[in-house]
Amino acid sequence: MRTPLIAGNWKMNKTTSQAREFAEQLAKLQTANSDKQLSSVEVLICPPFTALSEVGQVIKTTSIKLGAQNMHWETKGAYTGEVSGEFLVDLGCEYVILGHSERRQYFSESDETINKKIVTALKLGLKPILCVGEQLSERESNQTFHVIKRQLDNGLVNISNIDKIVIAYEPVWAIGTGKTATPEQAKEVHSYIRENIAKKYGKDTAMNLRILYGGSVTPENIDILMKQDGIDGALVGGASLKTESFLRLVNFQT
Ligand code: PEP
Repeated sequence: MRTPLIAGNWKMNKTTSQAREFAEQLAKLQTANSDKQLSSVEVLICPPFTALSEVGQVIKTTSIKLGAQNMHWETKGAYTGEVSGEFLVDLGCEYVILGHSERRQYFSESDETINKKIVTALKLGLKPILCVGEQLSERESNQTFHVIKRQLDNGLVNISNIDKIVIAYEPVWAIGTGKTATPEQAKEVHSYIRENIAKKYGKDTAMNLRILYGGSVTPENIDILMKQDGIDGALVGGASLKTESFLRLVNFQT
């Protein structure tokens, strides 16, 4: 059985005090609702690096998980401005988002460097959330499956323990734009990803893999998305920044 995962990617938002306030509210509500859906859904928040320590302290006695938004593929050394996966483990992170389209687009991350990061994350015991997704021009020229295949093939080179990985399908044209993929579009790509993984790692492994949808997920569309076969959760930017809307996502109805 695949436990649904609702993950908040805060991107470059929230000072430490704002992050603490959010985490405290969420932790309080989580305790109050411990018998409800919050306990049957895995809830993850990914604050900026600067707030990881503070947020980690607040949520450490709850079931809310902590994740980072990126890391370097080396664990230490002369890499000014970079953050090691070892530091993330030290702060209590369980997950790390890797290959987000904003990192691919603005920081020239390639499938190859993303693969190196995944290898290191797994060695350190971190669970990578590998983001894949096509741009609008690629969808319009029927390249979606081709792009997803390339990102999966190259991103997962030399990775055997796929069971520790989560994949997030995030069509680039839907991220932060208010344009969500239709449930059918999302479902189609999710099935494609699962088939691709089944070919490489076997059917059982593919059936246990969690595949999240990301791209303008909101309280208004979460229910229909989560009703689709093969959508195992959501990676959410904008709508994860307010406790009220994030909680509504966590309490999706199927
Ligand atoms: C994201 O950051 O991965 C994302 C999907 O953002 P948004 O929900 O704002 O589209």
